[in-house]
Amino acid sequence: MITGQPTSDGAGVKLTRLIGTQALPDLDPFLMLDAFGSDDPKAYIAGFPDHPHRGFETVTYMLAGRLRHRDNKGNSGLLEAGSVQWMTAGRGIVHSEMPEQEKGLMAGFQLWINLPAAEKMTAPRYQDIAPGRIPVVSAPGEVRVKIIAGAFEGTAGPVAPASTLFLDAALPAGAEFLANLPSEHSAFTYVYEGSAEIGPESQATALAPGRLGVLGPGARFRARGGERPSHVLLVAGRPLNEPVAKYGPFVMNTKAELYQAFADYEAGRL
Ligand code: MN
Repeated sequence: MITGQPTSDGAGVKLTRLIGTQALPDLDPFLMLDAFGSDDPKAYIAGFPDHPHRGFETVTYMLAGRLRHRDNKGNSGLLEAGSVQWMTAGRGIVHSEMPEQEKGLMAGFQLWINLPAAEKMTAPRYQDIAPGRIPVVSAPGEVRVKIIAGAFEGTAGPVAPASTLFLDAALPAGAEFLANLPSEHSAFTYVYEGSAEIGPESQATALAPGRLGVLGPGARFRARGGERPSHVLLVAGRPLNEPVAKYGPFVMNTKAELYQAFADYEAGRL
């Protein structure tokens, strides 16, 4: 269990960092996970003005509010509640992520997924996924599972290629949610609403918002919802086991590649 760290990023957006802290610097291939959630416009209104990325993917999952994405490859998209933006920065992209609201709740997640050395300089790609394109399947106990990436019980999510599993399960009070995972993958869970017990019945751990559950070895995930309905994220990915050289918005394999990324950005080559 990892306690998230309050921080701010972009032009001062307040958020809770769950991966990418001293307590959990990374969880190969996951480099960063931020949870944002505020009904105070002062905590989010300045957004994330133009900034670059190279060498990895950013995944934004919106729960509430609206964010406008624009990038220097000509893409623009409005991220609304329930939508997902899967951006492969590859060899480089410059983008902005700005709130399109002046009041009300803004909530969601941003996950950074590393790219293998062979794909770090791939062409940038932007996938804007509307809520209606995300399949929702029923599991025993009236559990509803949104499949954002990867596959669950034979249904695949909209993101391709998907070496990552990204599920959002809605559990009625007391319901049990079971899922199979590739045992060699890194995996984490985050209960963003309500509470749930994670792990085998004999040694379950209680989780609630603010704390990330890093899963140990094994091929089976189990969660039991608490006294209120809960929402449980389950994310898994194949570890790359490659050297990581990262600084700010660039994640490469060597320091020389990092210097090159800065030089390319300053020269306008991203
Ligand atoms: Mn960004």
